[in-house]
Amino acid sequence: MNDIKLALLGSEGAGKSAVLVRFLTRRFIGEYASNTNSLYHKRLSIDGRQLNLEVFDPCSEQSSEARCILEEPVDWADGFVVVYNISDRSSFIRAKNILLQIREARVDNCKGDVEVPVCLVGNKQDLCHIRQVCEDEGRCLAQENHCNFQEVSAAESYQDIGNLFTQLIRQVMEHLKYR
Ligand code: GDP
Ligand code: MG
Repeated sequence: MNDIKLALLGSEGAGKSAVLVRFLTRRFIGEYASNTNSLYHKRLSIDGRQLNLEVFDPCSEQSSEARCILEEPVDWADGFVVVYNISDRSSFIRAKNILLQIREARVDNCKGDVEVPVCLVGNKQDLCHIRQVCEDEGRCLAQENHCNFQEVSAAESYQDIGNLFTQLIRQVMEHLKYR
């Protein structure tokens, strides 16, 4: 059984918990506990392999666990989902900084040659009428950081979220093979 650890990062309110709950349960509940860090576990099978998935969903980037993971992200997580809200430019700027932090941590850990799999996610696509970040900006930022990119709506659909997690987990499995 392979253990895979993912961490969700992004501004408060971007929809990290909503995206994760949509992936884990296929449902959108609307409101999510925002006062505790959560570590979710799920057993799943991808490409015929049994996996033990752990996902860290921080309530606030100020919490000590979240800071610790942010300071040493490459040590804890095998992959990252960095979430912003397409209707909130400040969350996009935060995502940019997080991607930079992840890159710098790789270099500090002398793992500069190892690409930790990351997916940049523009959430709340259903709010495109009040969009502040166009899709191309998200795509360009992802290209600059050698990561995947997907716009999604946790509120409206499962499909894209399911696909992005599956793709990320596949990349992590590939990556772990060579460690
Ligand atoms: P977190 O702080 O990043 O974990 O954000 P939450 O998952 O708690 O979501 C913050 C707020 O945005 C909640 O009120 C959610 O119901 C709402 N939300 C999350 N995803 C979506 C989405 O795709 N569309 C819309 N319209 N609202 C969303
Ligand atoms: Mg949350």
